[in-house]
Amino acid sequence: MTFQDFNFNPELTEGVTSMGYTTPTPIQGMAIPLILADKDLIACAQTGTGKTAAFLLPILEKIGRTEKSHTSTLILTPTRELAQQIDQQVEGLAYFTGISSIAIFGGGDGHIYEQQRRGIQNNVNIIIATPGRLMAHLQSGVLKLNKINHLILDEADRMLDMGFSDDIMRIIGYLPKERQTLLFSATMPGRIRNLAKSVLHNPEQISI
Ligand code: AMP
Repeated sequence: MTFQDFNFNPELTEGVTSMGYTTPTPIQGMAIPLILADKDLIACAQTGTGKTAAFLLPILEKIGRTEKSHTSTLILTPTRELAQQIDQQVEGLAYFTGISSIAIFGGGDGHIYEQQRRGIQNNVNIIIATPGRLMAHLQSGVLKLNKINHLILDEADRMLDMGFSDDIMRIIGYLPKERQTLLFSATMPGRIRNLAKSVLHNPEQISI
């Protein structure tokens, strides 16, 4: 299998090439066609498997097709470091596409909060956020999530371990019911399955 098999648009393909990716990893080979086909997905995958590009590439392809004019994608992730790493992968993969993203995370001074607030108001395509700080922006009223088409819960087990369960459920309350939801987790304990049951719709399941 090669990346050509997914028929990505030329700008996205150029981004993939510029990142030095030549062959899809196993999780990418399994997840990309399902996500392109609009399925909800539970994926059990560790860091280092290429899981980030497994969800970013099909989402970038979809945004490029019809969703470029609004904030269509929300990625929730447990830590500032992960949010920044995902944001960097978006910047690399989406470099030639004109698709924009912002990382929103807690901590920092008022200057960072203000910078995030301005970024949100710029109508970015993809928001990559830790749940607590995203809630703060939602409650302040600057952030509207009523046009989100894709929700990704990344490292869901770590988010629950860090006590973000209530924030996650509150955030999901702001999203349209009709959306695509993807859940990635390194482990699948009962509480992750319960979370999946309450927020995913007929999900496909993959494990590597
Ligand atoms: P992740 O599991 O998402 O943390 O990715 C681990 C690393 O693999 C990151 O540095 C990615 O840039 C890289 N990577 C992802 N997909 C590929 C691929 N198909 N070929 C080569 N490297 C990749």
